[in-house]
Amino acid sequence: MSLRRQRATKRTLQSLLLKRFGMAVATYALTALLCGVAMLADLLHVSILTGLLFIALATLSQLVFWGLFFTGQNLRFSDPSLTEPQVLVALTWLTALLAMFAEGRGSMLVVYMLILLFGVFQLPPKVFVRCAVFAFFGFAGLNLYEAYLFPSSDSGLRILQVSALAAVLLWLSLFASYVQSMRQRMRQRRFALQAHQDTLRGMMRQLEDLAATDELTGLFNRRHFLRLASHELDSLRAGRRHGLALIDLDHFKRVNDAHGHAAGDRVLQTFAGVARACMRDGDIIARYGGEEFVLLLPNTDEDQFTACCERLREAFNRAEPLGVKVDNLSLSVGMTLLNMHDDLDEALHRADQALYQAKRSGRNRCAATWANADA
Ligand code: GH3
Ligand code: MG
Ligand code: MG
Repeated sequence: MSLRRQRATKRTLQSLLLKRFGMAVATYALTALLCGVAMLADLLHVSILTGLLFIALATLSQLVFWGLFFTGQNLRFSDPSLTEPQVLVALTWLTALLAMFAEGRGSMLVVYMLILLFGVFQLPPKVFVRCAVFAFFGFAGLNLYEAYLFPSSDSGLRILQVSALAAVLLWLSLFASYVQSMRQRMRQRRFALQAHQDTLRGMMRQLEDLAATDELTGLFNRRHFLRLASHELDSLRAGRRHGLALIDLDHFKRVNDAHGHAAGDRVLQTFAGVARACMRDGDIIARYGGEEFVLLLPNTDEDQFTACCERLREAFNRAEPLGVKVDNLSLSVGMTLLNMHDDLDEALHRADQALYQAKRSGRNRCAATWANADA
């Protein structure tokens, strides 16, 4: 993954985690609101000093988490969401808060669920069970301690509350492991889908290559050349010119007649090899059809282009096809230049006229029709 993409993924993850942290803070605020209601209903009796101290410590614990997220220090942990520590801290505060409640404690048990819900989608089942056990022992321990301190208090209600909490925690743990296995299955499906997509993309690339390539010579075919050439023509800026040439092997029929079709094929392949060796990156050479080829040389002028075509012609003169003894290999070239706003068909026609001229004046040469006759 590129560095920029890594950074973008990190930023997205951090903003997601900060949003989740915001939700946790909202749950704290909601619980504080419930405490306010309980106080108004005369179910919670706390001195102002204890209340303020409690709020200050809980806020401090949240500031520590906020600091970790804000500075990015959370990314150093194996789980950057810090879900487990956040849940454990919240459970501790809730158990401490419940110690101050008298009759209304049963209603406040729902807050255990609210806190643990944060872990249902995030925590591995084992860790979730650890948090649930922590919540259970916290609340059960509180009740045991109180039963020890006040043996005459309502033990039936205590047993019911602890059992209800145990049942809910058990159910939540099972639900969390079900959610995690479902996520695992979805992840596996996503990977399988990605693998299919990669295979499909590879096949598409192969198909595109096949559709653009001439089977015998491995050069581009005519259709692909025309597509590339019109693209080059579209991007041609004023004052710049591209060279366009039609290349035809001389007396090729004689090669076929004298040495057979397979030898003719070998000569065509030899031309492709020579052309590839002569061309630079950005030059486009393609098989136009039969023993005819087409060349496009971007950003050139008359002299440079002629020199390039001459080089190709001479190189083919010297070529020796493997396994075939053919004397006097030669080709003729018809050249023209492409200007901005030129028409590709018209330019090809100009090159064809030049090729005809080269053939008529004796073959094995380059001829040019640089511009329209009526221009
Ligand atoms: P000129 O110098 O006037 O171009 O003469 P030429 O013989 O090259 O031209 P002509 O058009 O008379 O013949 C072209 C020959 O090229 C005829 C055709 O059988 C042969 N040819 C076309 N495609 C292939 C091919 O793929 N393989 C082989 N071996 N021959 C081919
Ligand atoms: Mg020919
Ligand atoms: Mg021909």
